[in-house]
Amino acid sequence: MNIQHYKQRLLDLEETLSARIGQEADQARGEFIDEAHDVGDASAADEAASEGFTEAEHDSAVLRQVRDALGRVADGTFGACIVDGGPIEEQRLEAVPWTPYCLKHAQRLEVAASSRTPTL
Ligand SMILES: [Zn+2]
Repeated sequence: MNIQHYKQRLLDLEETLSARIGQEADQARGEFIDEAHDVGDASAADEAASEGFTEAEHDSAVLRQVRDALGRVADGTFGACIVDGGPIEEQRLEAVPWTPYCLKHAQRLEVAASSRTPTL
């Protein structure tokens, strides 16, 4: 596995996401002020602002994972599943270079997350 390749992709992602998060936050604030002023409809402005923040929040979540992954590159544990230490599929790393899970454990977590309602 070519760690340098993934490290470079993660660094690029970190830069792109950081820049975008800054813009989204500015935009959301700008829309809120403009629309609340012009239209006098605070609820529409609220909506625009919260959509912006939701995207920024999503980007922040990915950014955190990208930074975690860069930490694993530094530790020398990048590419190993954090559940069982097994290798993460290269195809998976190509698609989601920040993933800390192999396919098997990612799927298990998704199942666990979607069946959070107690079944007692
Ligand atoms: Zn695993």
